[in-house]
This record gives sequence, C-alpha cells and structure tokens, in this order.
Amino acid sequence: MSSTRKFFVGGNFKMNGDKKMLDVIIENLNKANCANTDVVVAPPTAYLSYVRGKLDGKVSVAAQNSYKVAKGAFTGETSPDMLVDLGINWAILGHSERRHVFGESDALIGEKIKYALERGLYVIPCIGEKLDQREGGTTLQVVSEQMASIKSNVNDWSKVVIAYEPVWAIGTGKVATPEQAQEVHLQLRKWLADNVSDAVSKSTRIIYGGSVSAGNCKELAKQPDVDGFLVGGASLKPEFSDIINARS
Ligand code: PEP
Repeated sequence: MSSTRKFFVGGNFKMNGDKKMLDVIIENLNKANCANTDVVVAPPTAYLSYVRGKLDGKVSVAAQNSYKVAKGAFTGETSPDMLVDLGINWAILGHSERRHVFGESDALIGEKIKYALERGLYVIPCIGEKLDQREGGTTLQVVSEQMASIKSNVNDWSKVVIAYEPVWAIGTGKVATPEQAQEVHLQLRKWLADNVSDAVSKSTRIIYGGSVSAGNCKELAKQPDVDGFLVGGASLKPEFSDIINARS
C-alpha cells in the first residue's frame, strides 16, 4: 500500500430514498470521519439540491447520469450545465444499469464523459464485464474496449475516477474476491500505462464496485490497486461510514 492515491468512496443511492430516509443518511455522513477519504454521494436527481444543501462540504455530491449537451428537447435528461448551476461537481457515467437497463452504448457514454469534463465536472466512468463474459474469459478484452472509448473522450485524467464494477457483482451479494478485483485493477493500471501515460497510470484512482459491505471492504481495501469503492446498497445504511474508513 505505497500508493499516494487518496482513498475514494462513492455512494450510489440509485432510485432510492425520500426526504426522511435521506435525512438519516445525511446525519450519518455529517458525523462520519472523512479525513483520509474523498467521499462522493449520488442521490436521485430529484434530491440533488436537497442533499447538497444539508450535507457538510466535506462530502461531495454526484449526479447518477448527465446528458451530452447543454439544453434542448431531451425530455427527462439533465445537463452538466444544470448540475454546475446547482453546485454539483461530479457525475457517475456509464453505470451498468445505464448500460444494461437503458441500453447506453460506449459511444454515448463517451460523448457524455467528454461534455461533462468540458463543463468542469469530475466524472466516475463505470466499466465491467457480464457473467458470461467473465466465464468466457473475455473480461480483459471487455474492460479494455470500454477503457478505449473512455480514453478517446478524456483530456484531463485528474478529473476522472474509474469504477470497475463487474456486472455479476452489482446488487447480487456476490462480491469479487480481493484477488479477482486486484487482478483486473492491475490490468487496468497497465492499460493506462500502455495507452495513456505512466503518470496517469500511477495517479488515477481505480475503485471497485459490486456488493461492497462493511464485512468485505477491509480485505478489498488492502489490495494495492484498489483505491476505494463505488457502493450501492450499503451506501444507504449506517455501515457506509465503516466502508469510508476501510483503509483507516
Ligand atoms: C452500484 O450501484 O454501483 C453497486 C456497486 O451496487 P451494490 O453495491 O448494491 O452492488
């Protein structure tokens, strides 16, 4: 663990929560020790301002998605310009549910990443293989293709945190073993060295997502190339504070 990369924990609330539930989460987050961790939470779009207004400044807020242009006839979409206007600095892009429930392609996700970065947002692009791809031995090929599409849309890697989220581990309770996570994270770091630069490979945070909990986070956090987590279900629970401090 000689890394100088600051530990990073994101919480993706997905389409969950109401004001009452969010108040409890916010109270826990405002009490949490975030000294050694960058913490970013992503409430549903409807609650972005509500959460931003009540959270301490030590916790950043992300949108779960954003569109590729500033404004226009795109019913239901939210632009990075609007997020900036609300004081929201981050966006999760290409989450597996966006890819597999809503059919977003690498090309569209790439355009969204490009535009969000242009508007000054920090982004968390998500990548990961499906179960049949893992079983078919194509994990590396799948994540490399996803990385290539991201790379062609990024010119400032200091604003990017890559989330490796194997689709078979998201919301299933079936977490990757620390060795499985480390193996892919190391390959992703190598991919960055070979395709971007050594400096970017060393400095870019690569976080793991997929059924992370208070029970499994410490072992995962010991892996040298696991720089933190993107947490779904457990980010709605008090155990999120333990995950924030998985490496402390
Ligand atoms: C996620 O939504 O990004 C996620 C990893 O979910 P969960 O932690 O519930 O598997």
